Amino acid sequence: MDISTLFLANVLLLSIFAICFLAVSLQASPRGHWLSWSAANALLAAALLGFALDRHAPSLAAYLLPNALLLLGFGFHWHAARQLAQLPTGIVIVAAPAAGYLIVAGNAYLFSNFALAYTASNAILTFVAVATISAYASKPFQGLISAIGLVLAFFFLGVDGALRTVHGLVLGGLSGPLVIDDTLQNAHLMFALVFVSLTGAFSLAISFEQVAQRNQEAARRDPLTGTFNRREFQDRLEEILRAEPAQPFGLLHFDLDHFKQVNDRFGHVAGDAALVKICDTVKNHLRQDDCLARLGGEEFAVLLPRISRENAFKVAERVRERISELRYDFAPQEFSITASSGIYHGTGDGLGYEELFQIVDQGLYQSKSAGRNRISIAVAGEELALVRQPA
Ligand code: GH3
Ligand code: MG
Ligand code: MG
Repeated sequence: MDISTLFLANVLLLSIFAICFLAVSLQASPRGHWLSWSAANALLAAALLGFALDRHAPSLAAYLLPNALLLLGFGFHWHAARQLAQLPTGIVIVAAPAAGYLIVAGNAYLFSNFALAYTASNAILTFVAVATISAYASKPFQGLISAIGLVLAFFFLGVDGALRTVHGLVLGGLSGPLVIDDTLQNAHLMFALVFVSLTGAFSLAISFEQVAQRNQEAARRDPLTGTFNRREFQDRLEEILRAEPAQPFGLLHFDLDHFKQVNDRFGHVAGDAALVKICDTVKNHLRQDDCLARLGGEEFAVLLPRISRENAFKVAERVRERISELRYDFAPQEFSITASSGIYHGTGDGLGYEELFQIVDQGLYQSKSAGRNRISIAVAGEELALVRQPA
């Protein structure tokens, strides 16, 4: 392809992505990164137009403007990556690459050291590429396939920038601002076409992947307490019941005692705050693989995979005790909320989710009728074995 066709193809593609991202930003929430991507693509399109027309522009503008626009565009790319990764970012990140370039290149122009400006623009570009890669490779993107596409695109950009930096260093002092010949420019424009397509497509993909991941996570959780919900709990329990060889696990089912009175006495908002505090406390006493779920209202379940009988009972007792010790900002110092539980330990005894819950449910109601704030051990196929009294 000749140079003007390559310029045109790049500008066209960048403009399409700029308009597309701007259109998405009108509907999307949060919209910041969409706007940044739109600005990045629009600025890169303007920069390429500047490079295409630089032979007709006054020499200072031809020399400074396209590179400054280019680096401003990459500043927006860096900013968008940091926004998505929830890293601190702002106008400084956006403007720093272009501002750094203008300072160095302005001085280089005064001393007619054009290779220095060329080297500086490419060194800054390489730095921005590496910084953008580190944002896209950070924790929030782990598990997102599209992050790999973006990392690759910026990796190629970084390599191209580094090669051009070396090229600038090797060239030494040059006689004019237009330092690269047509063959080299052709290669860079071909590369730009690949970069623009990759970043455009994978920017769209990563953002939608992130939304899908967030929705997936929300579908597993209870919105008030942030604990898992019944669906997630059932999935995890059924997975354990299917495991070969069978694993011993603990299943704790608890219900808060006289919780209606909390609402009646202190109001529904206070009741909600109590539910959140209780869940946070229980979560802090569980292992990474344990699963606390809100089954509904003030009723919860804890799944304790791969645990001995003794430890399962210890965890249950600790949970009961910690809940009863909690104090609340909305209530007098002596006020406490307690929980009644049923606990099962075993390998499932060939039972399903529903049947196991019927068993622990019996334990729970046994605890309620025996006076609350206690744990009943439920055994499949037998009468309830024993009732643990509060310490
Ligand atoms: P028991 O000891 O027999 O379990 O008595 P209880 O009052 O806890 O039981 P009951 O089932 O009569 O009442 C449950 C209460 O839990 C009623 C409801 O107002 C309250 N509740 C359920 N979900 C929520 C919630 O999301 N927020 C608040 N604040 N209260 C809730
Ligand atoms: Mg209750
Ligand atoms: Mg209840």
